[in-house]
Amino acid sequence: MEKIEVNKDLCIGCGACMAICPETFEMDSDGLAKAVNNEINDEVKTAEESCPTNAIKINKED
Ligand code: SF4
Repeated sequence: MEKIEVNKDLCIGCGACMAICPETFEMDSDGLAKAVNNEINDEVKTAEESCPTNAIKINKED
């Protein structure tokens, strides 16, 4: 099972992931991003690659 996570220790709340993939990333109440579903698609991968602090991780579990 694949899972999308935002490491809030790294996230700076720049909003890039939400701009690229708004169906997956939303701003949490603390001003940092959170993932709201676990569907892996090209936009999610682009957001992961575009995050300036590498806070987004896509975990692929057996
Ligand atoms: S792109 Fe990265 S640093 Fe910016 S809001 Fe998203 S997770 Fe946080």
